[in-house]
Amino acid sequence: MKKIILLIEDEKDIVELIAFNLEVEGYKVLKAYEGYEGLEMAKKERPNLIILDLMLPGIQGLEICKMIRSNSITATIPIIILTAKSDPLDKILGLEIGADDYMTKPFHVRELIARVRAALRRMDFSPLEAPVKLFSYKGLSIDYGSYTIIVDGNRVDLGPTEIKLLFLFAQNHGRVYSRDQLLHRIWGDETFVEPRTVDVHISRLRKAIERDKENPDYILTVRGIGYKLNDMK
Ligand code: CA
Repeated sequence: MKKIILLIEDEKDIVELIAFNLEVEGYKVLKAYEGYEGLEMAKKERPNLIILDLMLPGIQGLEICKMIRSNSITATIPIIILTAKSDPLDKILGLEIGADDYMTKPFHVRELIARVRAALRRMDFSPLEAPVKLFSYKGLSIDYGSYTIIVDGNRVDLGPTEIKLLFLFAQNHGRVYSRDQLLHRIWGDETFVEPRTVDVHISRLRKAIERDKENPDYILTVRGIGYKLNDMK
């Protein structure tokens, strides 16, 4: 079955260029030229991945990104942001509000395709890899089969990268992972990912599951080494 990519971008030339190249690679492409239209399409069609331009007419891409992440139907869909701004703060902001990757315009379409492929591969993570179906620790429970994460009785919606991080920590409860190990395990051979990206996703994960993200109960920083899921009784 063809994987579906939703492209939300108002510049028709760019839409056609990206769509053509994705279709050549065997993906089915849905096009939206405006944010709300894209959001509705995302809910209805549940694409495997969304490419989202930040500069859109009307509602801006960052707002759309937040809405996609906060809707339980679309929360786990990976998002690649396109931005014309080269300001690094903007990229970090994009990652912090829920994007999985970003590209600065002008970009090579081949590189975008490589990132699409990589983001989809990250999602191919099979819950069957899990030795147990359920994980439970101090008010945090994870159902690997349905991707349901509950904290203190409330369901939390996580982005795809945060889910993978949490699953990895839970399946190796108490084990410490360095940034490099996390890069390797979660992002694979994608050389364009910077160690800072790991911290951004850890911060997003904490924001979603910790009661107080300044004093985390779950995802602990092991100074000078990396991160682990707390295993204290
Ligand atoms: Ca645009």
